[in-house]
Amino acid sequence: MDPVHIFWFRRDLRLEDNAGLYHALTSGLPVVPLFIFDANILDQLGDKEDARVSFIHRVLEELQTFLGHQGSTLEVSYGKPLAVFEQLCKKYPVKGVFTNHDYDPYARQRDKEVGDWLAKKGISFQTYKDQVIFEKDEVLKADGKPYTVFTPYSRSWKAKLQENPVHSFGSLQHIHRFYAQSPIRVPSLKSMGFELSSLGFPSKRADTEKIKEYAQTRDYPAIDGTTKMGIHLRFGTISIRALVKKALEQSEVYLGELIWREFFQMILWQFPHVGKGKSFKPEYDRIHWMYDEDAFGLWCEGRTGYPLVDAGMRELNQTGHMHNRVRMVTASFLAKHLLIDWRWGEAYFAAKLLDFELAANNGNWQWAAGCGCDAAPYFRIFNPTLQAAKFDKAQEYIRRWVPEFGTFSYPLPMVDHEFARKRCLEAYAKALKGT
Ligand SMILES: Cc1cc2nc3c(=O)[nH]c(=O)nc-3n(C[C@H](O)[C@H](O)[C@H](O)COP(=O)(O)OP(=O)(O)OC[C@H]3O[C@@H](n4cnc5c(N)ncnc54)[C@H](O)[C@@H]3O)c2cc1C
Repeated sequence: MDPVHIFWFRRDLRLEDNAGLYHALTSGLPVVPLFIFDANILDQLGDKEDARVSFIHRVLEELQTFLGHQGSTLEVSYGKPLAVFEQLCKKYPVKGVFTNHDYDPYARQRDKEVGDWLAKKGISFQTYKDQVIFEKDEVLKADGKPYTVFTPYSRSWKAKLQENPVHSFGSLQHIHRFYAQSPIRVPSLKSMGFELSSLGFPSKRADTEKIKEYAQTRDYPAIDGTTKMGIHLRFGTISIRALVKKALEQSEVYLGELIWREFFQMILWQFPHVGKGKSFKPEYDRIHWMYDEDAFGLWCEGRTGYPLVDAGMRELNQTGHMHNRVRMVTASFLAKHLLIDWRWGEAYFAAKLLDFELAANNGNWQWAAGCGCDAAPYFRIFNPTLQAAKFDKAQEYIRRWVPEFGTFSYPLPMVDHEFARKRCLEAYAKALKGT
């Protein structure tokens, strides 16, 4: 059997404009495409109907069908990555493994272990930047230090883009270089202990009109005015380069959101303590949080008596999505009105959001709780009633998710706004005293 290269798909589940895949396919050897359902990740998921697993499964089946038509097949395994590579290296004469960078703390450790193991066997491990435009330390301050404030980071990011215009990778043109063999079945969800989720997934096509109108519509949760690209960016079913090109043509505001995404990825890379349960600003870890499970339960279920908060939580529970404006209000409400440790909320969102992404989730939670980089100052506390009046004036969003709002069955506010505001200011001031 002739030697092969492996391309390892992770959060880049597409054939078009895929950097690592392009390099693998143009490397001169036939390429065996691989996906691993990583037992280290899957075994920790409490919900056996996890929609993200169903989403990945569906995408892999689509990829498998496509590759089948090309006379090739995707290797899909369930297991621990090292064990999977041991098996694969027995099955194929592997010369090299190609993949794209993954910046999450677990992924960094996994890739180091896999890379070291492959090196011992004389197999190369080549990794490429794919899921962001600029990574790691590509956008730094003039003194060589990482930015911790968004606006100057964003300015620098845009300047760098002008010097290095986005270019796509023509991976799709080289798919005849996949290793030819008869189809292998994608393991069923059941065989991995999972069930098919009943949630729907947003369509992959970034709605051009939505990007054009984005600046006007994005803040109003009753309007379907955001692109729902989160899950596609998370699993790479869309290329960030394609999306940035669209944003450059159509909406600077939308481009700004894509830059926020990279900002938080850069923060997680440069300041890994934020991904390990620590506040970006350590003094905020002195806050005495209340670990009130009943109050947390009301927040999770959307029964706080604050209709915008409740609408958001119910949207999340029923669809796996929540509008960004409402994410900000619900997160702030948990940390500031209920004084509940923001890490509880972060974990709840992580379990529920289809677009869950460690860097963005953590960065935004820290922003909302006031303890993050470039965060809202702690004394600026969202008033959920005023937020509703401003962003859901006709109560369309609220009534969609909280049909009993305005009737006797709707609960009274679980905490008085003024009381909660004062309590929060005192708790934060006490923790920050002397800093
Ligand atoms: C408490 C809280 C938790 C969040 N958790 C996540 C998360 O786990 N994963 C996630 O992708 N986003 C998260 N966000 C950011 C934002 O709410 C979502 O990206 C957005 O609502 C997803 O919807 P969309 O795809 O329609 O976004 P659009 O408004 O259409 O934006 C397009 C894309 O830009 C990026 N983006 C937009 N806003 C932000 C932001 N504030 N920070 C980082 N990236 C952004 C996302 O990739 C998004 O898909 C969170 C925000 C808050 C306040």
